[in-house]
Amino acid sequence: MQILITGGCGFIGTNFSKYWLEKYPEDKIINLDNVTYAGNIDNLKEFENNENYSFIKGDICDKALVESIMKDIDIVFNFAAESHVDNSIKGPMIFTETNVLGTHVLLESARNNKIKRFIHISTDEVYGSIKNGSFKETDILKPNSPYSASKAAAEMIARSYNITFNLPVIITRSSNNYGPYQYPEKVIPLFVTNLIENKKVPLYGTGMNVRDWIYVVDNCEAIDFISKNGKIGEIYNIGGGNEIPNIELTKKILKEMGKDESFIDHVEDRLAHDFRYSVNCEKINKLGWKPRFNFNNALKETIQWYKANEEWWRKLKK
Ligand code: NAD
Repeated sequence: MQILITGGCGFIGTNFSKYWLEKYPEDKIINLDNVTYAGNIDNLKEFENNENYSFIKGDICDKALVESIMKDIDIVFNFAAESHVDNSIKGPMIFTETNVLGTHVLLESARNNKIKRFIHISTDEVYGSIKNGSFKETDILKPNSPYSASKAAAEMIARSYNITFNLPVIITRSSNNYGPYQYPEKVIPLFVTNLIENKKVPLYGTGMNVRDWIYVVDNCEAIDFISKNGKIGEIYNIGGGNEIPNIELTKKILKEMGKDESFIDHVEDRLAHDFRYSVNCEKINKLGWKPRFNFNNALKETIQWYKANEEWWRKLKK
């Protein structure tokens, strides 16, 4: 099998590439990534001499390049994106370019080359916020940030390619991932690395916003599972089953790092900060997938990883 992974130098793409290369060593992987600030080619350095892994530095919006790569591909996993909500508030246009136009270029090329599966990685943020209960895949989308709106728009085009052209598209909507190789702009690596540096952690507002956390390896396994068992044209929520207010998450991290609450810096809230994300995972559960990792243990391991890999994140925080 020939696999195209876009965004393989980012957080989830790196973990997914490692996962796939180790689990299916006979498959050939092409990683297409234009290495934005969030991409890091060193992440997959251990595979640079692996003849089944190749890296192409390039933009998913580049039609000619994408077309030249897509020729012999069987499955596309589209991770490439601008992924940070705060950045989408400061500079939204690149989110539409990469997340919408880039996805469209990939879909069009996948259609031209009759690929066997197009797994599009979306997010639970497309639903918007929910006070009580959990979103099902059939619920309407009310994305509130330019980031989540661009992800929702990309999904709409992906869906249309399935309906109109029969392109074998499947969409995943996962909750917040955590684990190794996450850029230290996102809350867990930001807080852990700040505390290693003996700095305070900037917590938005009162910290009552609720997120569900999934260990990145669980998400990789779920995406693999969906690529084999998911139904063409369907959407699957992927949750970790670990909903927690940000203040509680912060306290867990502080405790693990041996710091007290004086290290919390309550900063002005994010614009239009979604109060709670929550996904109903019955559909994927019924199909046969459940998360394996325990939140407290995997969080501890994640913290250990950032402690053991200062060299990796220190250059990114400069
Ligand atoms: P990330 O920001 O860590 O990585 C994104 C990668 O995409 C980087 O390597 C970057 O260089 C690359 N990229 C950006 N623009 C590109 C372009 N135009 N062409 C080629 N490559 C480009 O993101 P992540 O956290 O790994 O997220 C991966 C995917 O999963 C995204 O689609 C995101 O929306 C989705 N997602 C993430 C989370 C999460 O918690 N991190 C949750 C749900 C869904």
